[in-house]
Amino acid sequence: MERVYKVYAINNGTVIDHIPTPLALKVVEILGLGNKGILTIGVGFQSKRLPGGKDILKIENRILLKSETDIIALIAPEATINIIQDGKVTKKRIISIPHEIHGVMQCPNPNCATNKLGAHSHFKVEDLEQMTYRCEYCERVTTIIPENLTSPE
Ligand SMILES: [Zn+2]
Repeated sequence: MERVYKVYAINNGTVIDHIPTPLALKVVEILGLGNKGILTIGVGFQSKRLPGGKDILKIENRILLKSETDIIALIAPEATINIIQDGKVTKKRIISIPHEIHGVMQCPNPNCATNKLGAHSHFKVEDLEQMTYRCEYCERVTTIIPENLTSPE
């Protein structure tokens, strides 16, 4: 008998493992995957590395770019990326914290042009270790707040 967590293996695509529970749906949202292709989402598996449990996201028939998977580091820096081709893992990718964020993060300053005038949001890293980012419009420095992350524009 296959173990339950192996219930649906994919032949081609991207598997994102070690997402802290319950952030898998947030990852789907910030990658803009909600209405594209076949997704399998597993929530709340036991994990030695993540005491609160882990989620697994399988994206069928799509190889995510490094620039896409690096966005995941904003909420799940421990996530691991496996690229699957013809049923085999052909690449294990380590994600790194992005130096710039385009479009997926809302500025916490309500008076910012990105909130008031609908300007395209753009942040540059302020401190990589602290994971703080500076808004290119109003210069407000912010940490990553998952609620402020949205689908790409
Ligand atoms: Zn701003």
